[in-house]
This record gives sequence, C-alpha cells and structure tokens, in this order.
Amino acid sequence: MTATIPAADAQAAHEGPLAHNYHPLPVTLTSGEGAWVRDVDGRTYLDLLAGYSALNFGHRHPGLLAAAHAQLDRLTLSSRAFDHDLLHPFAAALADLARPVVAGAEHGRTPMVLPMNTGAEAVETAIKTARKWGYDVRGVAPERATIVVAAGNFHGRTTTIVSFSTDPEAREGFGPHTPGFRIVPFGDAEALRAAVDETTVAVLLEPIQGEQGVVVPPEGYWPAVRQICTDADALLIADEIQSGLGRTGTTFALELWGVRADLITLGKALGGGVLPVSAVVGRPDVLGVLTPGTHGSTFGGNPLACAVGLAVVEELRTGAHQERARNLGAHLHARLATLVDTGLLVESRGVGLWAGLDVDPARMTGRELCERLLGLGVLAKDTHGSTIRLAPPLVIDAADLDLAVDRLTQALR
Ligand SMILES: *Cc1c(COP(=O)(O)O)cnc(C)c1O
Repeated sequence: MTATIPAADAQAAHEGPLAHNYHPLPVTLTSGEGAWVRDVDGRTYLDLLAGYSALNFGHRHPGLLAAAHAQLDRLTLSSRAFDHDLLHPFAAALADLARPVVAGAEHGRTPMVLPMNTGAEAVETAIKTARKWGYDVRGVAPERATIVVAAGNFHGRTTTIVSFSTDPEAREGFGPHTPGFRIVPFGDAEALRAAVDETTVAVLLEPIQGEQGVVVPPEGYWPAVRQICTDADALLIADEIQSGLGRTGTTFALELWGVRADLITLGKALGGGVLPVSAVVGRPDVLGVLTPGTHGSTFGGNPLACAVGLAVVEELRTGAHQERARNLGAHLHARLATLVDTGLLVESRGVGLWAGLDVDPARMTGRELCERLLGLGVLAKDTHGSTIRLAPPLVIDAADLDLAVDRLTQALR
C-alpha cells in the first residue's frame, strides 16, 4: 500500500530514536576549527551559521579550550549550595563588560549578574524578575502585571515564552498559554507607547530580531523605546542572546544606539562554543528582588561555565573581535548589496558580521539555497520561507569570507 514514504517518515527511519523536532541539512559533522568544520566523509565546509551565534569565536577557540581544560582538571560542578572560586570573579567580569548598556552604571552603580544555562532560562529569569519587581516595587495589583513584546520575536521555547510568539508553528498546540503579554509591531515606537499602561512592568525586545531574519529597527526606535519605558516606569529588557558579544561590531547591539536597558539577557556566545552559559545582567535594585529560595538553577554558574564565561569576557575586552565584525561586516554587506543590485537577491540587511538575505521565492526557497550551499561547501540555515541568515564566526579570515560569498553567488545563479 505504501507507494511513497513521506519525507518525515523517511527522516524518522534515518534518525531512529531521535525526536523529530529539527530538519537538519544532510551533513554529519565530526570536527571543527575556527570557521571550518569537517564531515564524516572528510569534506570541509565553511560554517556561516556559527551555532546561531553560539560560536562567535569559532570552533575550538584555543584560549577558550585552554580555560575549559584547566577547569576540567580542578572542579567542574559545585551547585549553588556552595560558592566556588570563579563564581564572583565571573559575575564581576561580566558586570564590568555590561557597564555601557546597563542603566545606572553611568552613575557608578555596578550591574548585578544572575547566571543561568540556556538562553530561554535567562529570558524566563528576566520575566520572573520583572513581574516580581512590578508587584514588590511598583505596586502593580496582584496577578495583573503585563509585559509588552514585539511581533516576530524569538526568545526561546519554554511554555511561557512560546505563549507570546507570533510564529504559529512555535505556539500552536502548546496551550493553555501564559497570560500577561501584549504584542506590538517591531520597530513602531508609537504602537509600543499605546500598549504601555499602569499594569506594564516591562518591555521585552531583541535589539535586532535575529530569527526573524536579522531585522534592524528604524534609527530612532531604540532611543524612543528607552524614553517610553522611563516615562512609564517600566523595565526595558533587551534580549542580547543572539545580538550580543561582538556580533554587531559592538560588544552589545544596544551600543549602536547608545541605549541602556534595565535588564539584559545573554547566552549563546557566552558559552564560548563549549557549553551552555547564560545570564541576566541588570540593575541591582531590580535583580535584587530575587531573594534566596525565589529562583535558582542546579547548573547555573557552575565552575566550568564560569571558567569559560570568564575567558569569553576576556576575549571581548580588547575590542579586537568587535573591530573584526565591523570591518568584515562592512565588506560582507557591500558584497551582498552587489548581489541585490544584480537581481540575485531581493534584499539584504544587517549590521556587523550578521546578515539576513531574502531570495526571490519564485527562484528558490531558503532551504533550497542552503542545500545548494551545502553542496558547495558552505553551511547556512534558512530562518523561514525564502530568508536565510549569515552569521560567520567573528574569527573568519577575509579570504574565507570572500570564498563564502563567491559560493553564495554561484548557488544563486
Ligand atoms: C537563541 C535565542 C534564545 C534562546 O536561547 P536557547 O539557548 O536556545 O534557549 C533567546 N533569545 C534569542 C534572541 C535567541 O536568539
């Protein structure tokens, strides 16, 4: 009876007991170094996804590996029932790094750091903090707190976070959804102002929407968002999990507009491509509402995570990665603009070493383009439809970046 095997079943057969919550490109990786990876057949590929920016410093960065190796030989896990000798140094280093983008730090107030593991956990932590701050400090009526978010957002996959996703695939079938969120268009400050009222404890936004296809908001947007939050005494939460830590040519994307947030979520590259490390960094009077017993994590702030996280902060301190992202990014965007001019791309946008490309859907889907790129030795991933995102490791060579764009041009022809 079975004339054809549906693709999902064929893939299920291929994957055996692995759950089907991803549709990977047909390549099986076995090693990596810098911007390059190798598959089980010995073929090499340039990695232009970089683990969705978890690999900003490339595969197996020597300094980050050395920090991890040294820590593996000392202490790997302690739990937060006890302190360990890297916990406070990590918090201090990250707080210092975040000074330019945390509100109050300009007046000498040191930001506070709450370490977690994955990005979604950092966002959940920020949401819980904002609600508790709303009730304890702002005096919002019990159970009435609202948080304003943007359409097209991506903040993770937990039940609460998907409750305010506007992507039906991410959201549908996972109800009942967590109440207390209002959704406004991204980049529209007036719509945001209209959605904020006395119940609003926070506005949660990505500085640049990564999963949506590297959508950069209009120039005046972020300063206006800051003003709206200040006027309403609502917290500004910037989700820098993908945009932060060098990607945009600045340490944090918010620096592009000179804006400070009350809470910032970090993840992805904070783990140096070695392990999951995330954190919320923000105003001490805000994160301070969390007291012993109100929030926690078995693995958050573990010694191995702190060792790698400290090394990541150290990597970013000189500004060299940020400068590479700026210079290589300018070159990348200039080359992509040529592809738009010659009609091979409908649009390209982005900042730093981070680009969203739209292909004419009549020519091919984003998935088809990524399959062609794979055949040409370049790894990239479609976000949805005919949009793909390029986020090469910041350590990529200029020559390798050119090679990648040459192959992209070939794939589009
Ligand atoms: C990836 C991402 C998350 C979720 O991080 P996980 O580690 O996958 O839970 C949250 N916010 C943004 C902006 C992201 O890009």
